[in-house]
This record gives sequence, structure tokens and C-alpha cells, in this order.
Amino acid sequence: MNKKQNILIIGAGLCGSLLALRLGQRGYNVSVYEMRPDLRKVDISAGRSINLAFSNRGNKAMKLVDIEDKVKAICIPMTGRMIHDKEGNAFLSNYSGRDHEYINSVSRGELNALLLDEAEKHENVSIYFNKKCKSVNFKKTTALFKDYETKSDFVEDADVIIATDGAGSAMRKSYYLGKTFLFSFSQDYLTHGYKELSILPTETGDYKTYKNALHIWPRGTFMLIALPNLDGSFTVTLFLSYDDGAYNFNNLTTPEIVSEFFQKEFPDALQLMPNLVKDFFNNPTAPLGTVKCSPWHYKGNTLLMGDSAHAIVPFYGQGMNASFEDVVEFDAVLDQNLENWEAVFKAYEKNRKKDTDAIADLAIDNFHEMKDHVANPIFQEKRKLEMALEKSFPDEYSSKYSLVTFNENIGYREAMLKGRAQDKAILNMLTDKELSITHDMTKDALKVILEKVKTATQDILEEDKIAGLKKS
Ligand code: FAD
Repeated sequence: MNKKQNILIIGAGLCGSLLALRLGQRGYNVSVYEMRPDLRKVDISAGRSINLAFSNRGNKAMKLVDIEDKVKAICIPMTGRMIHDKEGNAFLSNYSGRDHEYINSVSRGELNALLLDEAEKHENVSIYFNKKCKSVNFKKTTALFKDYETKSDFVEDADVIIATDGAGSAMRKSYYLGKTFLFSFSQDYLTHGYKELSILPTETGDYKTYKNALHIWPRGTFMLIALPNLDGSFTVTLFLSYDDGAYNFNNLTTPEIVSEFFQKEFPDALQLMPNLVKDFFNNPTAPLGTVKCSPWHYKGNTLLMGDSAHAIVPFYGQGMNASFEDVVEFDAVLDQNLENWEAVFKAYEKNRKKDTDAIADLAIDNFHEMKDHVANPIFQEKRKLEMALEKSFPDEYSSKYSLVTFNENIGYREAMLKGRAQDKAILNMLTDKELSITHDMTKDALKVILEKVKTATQDILEEDKIAGLKKS
């Protein structure tokens, strides 16, 4: 395919700016249209979630575009989950038994700005701000925009349009409303929403609590989490039902009720948040949902990528990482030199969709795990065992979390199937008291357990395979 072709990208968020950078590096003529002002020039909130957990799959994309070191410079390593109970006790549960495996907290705004800077270094990449896409004519490969500066509408055409305009994608809407081809679409909201709060730095600019962890206050049906920022603050997120339970977003209506709720459920966090009430009433409450759809492309004209194709709930910390991995996968298909864009889009979707469906499902599972299971003794026992197995047999064992988060060489689907089978195997054995775990287990004793877990996992995978074959 001719490199001088014009590619129009809708949305200069995390996925769109990375895609522009990569296609720019490959020599395409790239125009990006973003509805918001340039976040490097105007002080706008970065949008939803001020900071994000960034991990191996995202980093693989940064390696591809050669900015790994620049991203590392704006990352704060988080080696584990710091679990806070109601009595104010806290304990750290590492993410992995291998010391080199950790996740990072990164500012959405800073990462987006870096990607935009890097993309704009290429003279074949142009980025236009304050241009909102209203609809896409996917048959003609044209997009209609509203220019917020001139207040007028205009149409752009291109050889190919790729929409990276997030969960509320305008192009996805055009697919849906167009009724021209069989477009499947689902959007499932959780009954929980989220609200961002903050723990500000001390007067000397220090962190008020342990910096290198993702803090969680799990409370069964709701939870609070906090991720560190470079300026000494933490961005705190409350995940809570809209209308269920004694306290919910609909009844937290006065400063007194909000303070009472935090005093009762998160007393140690409240001590760090004198600004709680102000944050609570200044910041919006937003919903959380999963979007699945197919096909992502219309012939060789248009393609959905990132959240526009597969928005997920944030509980695996993988939405951005998955969107970055999309670009890596797309790039690999371009390397195959297929005959036309339609073949490229088809091959990309065929390979990718099973993995984005898997991470969508895993993210829902982790919602329950984070708010509830992490505080459950059998889950904690399983976690301890998995940490010991990873530490003693780093090349032989990886937990589901490690497979999803740290093993960027396998797809999400493979990670999900193996990880779920392992979880089931270990939980069965712990529940049936087939495993007795002590703090001072020898490597030989752990080896016996490892072999048991491997055999049971294999059996479950076989059973799942047979069940799957029977279903189809
Ligand atoms: P977006 O980042 O949404 O970017 C879309 C861009 O398109 C924006 O710049 C927007 O302004 C622009 N746009 C939208 N509509 C139009 C239009 N009509 N015309 C022109 N431009 C348009 N992921 C992780 O990996 N780790 C995490 O820890 C994590 N935490 C999260 C926490 C929360 C509370 C939420 C909600 C999400 C979280 N995510 C996380 C997911 C992550 O935010 C998304 O997966 C990621 O932002 C997707 O990137 P994107 O570029 O596809 O979409």
C-alpha cells in the first residue's frame, strides 16, 4: 500500500496520539482531529482518571515507537497493593513474586502530551484541536466536523479513517445508525459509578502515605483506591453503587453524610483527606461500562481502535494498556504487506477481538476481586502461595494477574484461560484442605505443590476444552 496515502485519525487521546506517532514513523500522511483544546497549552483536566496504571503491554508499545525511557521518567513504580482494613491496619501484597515485575502510576495528561510531542516531530503528521467529529460517512470515507473556533462545520476526506475517539465514539454511532451492514453492539453499565478525590502532599511536598503501592480500601460492595502522582499527591477514586446499600452515590448528598460515611468506612484515609468534602462536591460522579462491538471496520474504509472498539471497566488497569497494544498488533499486521486496507483491517480484527473480549471479562472479574476477595482469608492464602511459587519457580509459575499484566508475549485470551484454570485449581485444593501451607515451606515442599497445581490446571483446561467443543 502506498505510504503517501492520507490517514485521518479521529481523537488525539492516548490511543490516537500513539497511532499517529507510529503511522507517522511508517511514512503515512496522518491528520488527527481532536475535539478538545491542546492539553499542552490549555489547562484542562486530563479527562476521566487523572492517573493510570501503566504496565508491560503498554510499555511494549512505547518500545515500538522508541520512547520507553521518556515514559519511564514520568512513571512511579507500584510494587503491590497496600490493603487497608477498617481498623486502620495496612499490609502490602506484592503484585508478583519476581522483583522486576511491578506496575506504574502515570499521569494521563503528561503521557498524552509526550505522545503528541513525539507525533508532531514528524512533518507528515498534523494535529488539529477543537474539531469535533459529528459523524462519519463510512461509504465515502469522509468525516463531518464542527470547528469550535470558527463555529462552522466542515468535511474531511481521506483514504482511510481510524476512529480513536473513546468510549462514546462518533464513528461507532455512525456505524450503528447507518444500518447499512450487520453491526453488533452492546454497552453494559455497572451499577457502580466512580468519583475522583485526592490526598494532597504534606506542606513539605512529601507523600502522606506509602508512595510505591496502589492503595486499596476494600469494603465488600464498594472500595476506595489511591495511586501516587509525581507531585506528592495521590488521586483517590471511590467506586460505589448509585443506589444500593446503606451509603450510595444517590444518598451521599450533604457534607455531614459524606464525612460520616468516610469516618465509618475509611477512617485512616479520611485523616489524610481534609479536603474530602470539597473534592466530593466539586467532582463529578461518572458511570463505568463495557462496550463490545463488531465488526470494527467497514470494508477497507474505516476502523475503530482503542476504547471506541472495546471500552472496559478499569479494574484490571488495562484499558489504556490494551489500547496501546492495539497499535502494536495493528503495526504487526501492516508488516505483513497485505494487498489492501480491507485485508489489513480484517486480519487485525480477527486476531485482536478475542483478546479485547477477554480483557473486558477479566476486568469485570477483578471488580469483584478488588472490592471483596482481596480481604478474604482464602484469597489471601492463595495469593501468598502464588507469590511463593513465583519467587521459587520464576520460570515455571505465573499467577493470572502476572499473565495478564506482565506477560506481554501472550494474548489476553490465553492469559485468561490459563489464569482462570489455575485459580480454580488452587481454590479447589485450598477449600478441600488438600494443600497445607506454612510460612517456612522448603523449596522441595513448594515443588510438590507446584506439580499438583500444574496437573490440576491441565485437567481443568482439558475439561474446559471438551465443554467448549460440546457447546460449539
Ligand atoms: P480516550 O483516552 O478516551 O481518548 C479519546 C479522545 O478522543 C479524547 O482525546 C477525546 O477528547 C477525543 N474525542 C472524543 N470524541 C471525539 C469526537 N467526536 N471528535 C473528536 N475527538 C473526540 N486504563 C489503564 O490501562 N490503566 C488504568 O489504571 C486505567 N484506569 C482508568 C480509570 C478510570 C476511572 C477510567 C474511566 C478508565 C481507566 N483506564 C485505565 C482506561 C483508559 O482510560 C482508556 O482505556 C484509555 O483512555 C483509552 O484510550 P483511547 O485513546 O482509546 O480513548
